[in-house]
Amino acid sequence: MGEYLKKCVRCGQCRYVCPVLEVAGKESASPRGKVFLAGLLQRGEVKPGPQADRILSLCLTCGACAAECPSGLPVDTIIKSARNLSASVHPHSPHRIMQRSLFSKLRTLEKFPGFMPLLRYAMAREYGLKPGSPARSVLPVITSPKRRKPRIRVGYFLGCATNYILPGIARSVVGVLTHLGCEVVIPPTSHCCGIPLVTAGEAEAAARLLEINRRSFKSFKLDAVVTDCSSCSFHLTDVGLYSVNSQPVYEFSEFLVSALNPDKPHGPLSGAAVACHSPCHFRHGRKLSRQIRQIIDIIPGIKVVDIPGGNSCCGGGGTFSLTHRSLSDDILQRYTGRIKSAGIQKLVTVCPSCIMQISRGLRSQEIPVCHPAEMLHASYRLPG
Ligand code: SF4
Ligand code: SF4
Repeated sequence: MGEYLKKCVRCGQCRYVCPVLEVAGKESASPRGKVFLAGLLQRGEVKPGPQADRILSLCLTCGACAAECPSGLPVDTIIKSARNLSASVHPHSPHRIMQRSLFSKLRTLEKFPGFMPLLRYAMAREYGLKPGSPARSVLPVITSPKRRKPRIRVGYFLGCATNYILPGIARSVVGVLTHLGCEVVIPPTSHCCGIPLVTAGEAEAAARLLEINRRSFKSFKLDAVVTDCSSCSFHLTDVGLYSVNSQPVYEFSEFLVSALNPDKPHGPLSGAAVACHSPCHFRHGRKLSRQIRQIIDIIPGIKVVDIPGGNSCCGGGGTFSLTHRSLSDDILQRYTGRIKSAGIQKLVTVCPSCIMQISRGLRSQEIPVCHPAEMLHASYRLPG
């Protein structure tokens, strides 16, 4: 981190793209301010503590600042490292223990009888969603294509939000991939990808999950690993789910475009005007751009409409929408205002967390937000 910090020339270019600064309006919330604080913490000129934690928490880790920085500073990574430094000083605070336990032990917690009812209650209250049974409990470990030999064997990294909250996405991903000739494997011992822990400054706990995930996927002979979540794709590609080569963990639309060349579905869908939302970890993290649109473009009857002013951060940022609700709502409302003005009937995106957050903002407009796998599943007229 030290070498990078020396490269900040305080030009302030990162300030123009930061969604948190736009609504918070103070320098300490700016990327430049947080880089400055990271330097003070690293040199021991400021003590880690609640005040530093509070300032460092004012970040969605969207990566827009890093994409803009002329000195090439990985600003979001610097902020995560500073959070880690700060967290290491008080690792046993109740808040930290709770956070660590939740994301490290989700697979254990899910076995408690009250887990799903509590989650359903919270999701209905917060997002108006009614999650059914977790995807893992209804999908087989291995699904093979019907009536033909598999052309490729794919590991499906099933993220937490999809598994517990939006399991319909997982059914669609498996349905579409097998329809296109893939054998789909969901390793039963895989866990959370670890990104919520990294953004919370819990790098060690995240590294333990990475090892579990590496072992889980290594135990199957796979040609590629695919996920429906752009944040999981970004994180697992960044830290290397594969310890021995630099193959990416493909985001779903990226995989379809680059590896499968999907055939045109037959079924026209109603709800003709659709806009595509490119999540931050898709654009800035994985540096992907047109893949969602390329997939939606093959569906008959769909007209893709641009969002006026282009794509923006939705303000979700994992737990940011819970810990900084008012700032998150301000960011969300600015964005959904533009989405509404596009006159669309549906929004499509590749991040379950964005789906939840933007659905919250578009609830009153009755504009559904969905995953491209769900649209393809419907257009291919697949069962289930
Ligand atoms: S754009 Fe980069 S160099 Fe300029 S202030 Fe921000 S972090 Fe520093
Ligand atoms: S990662 Fe995003 S939210 Fe965080 S400082 Fe950079 S631009 Fe702002």
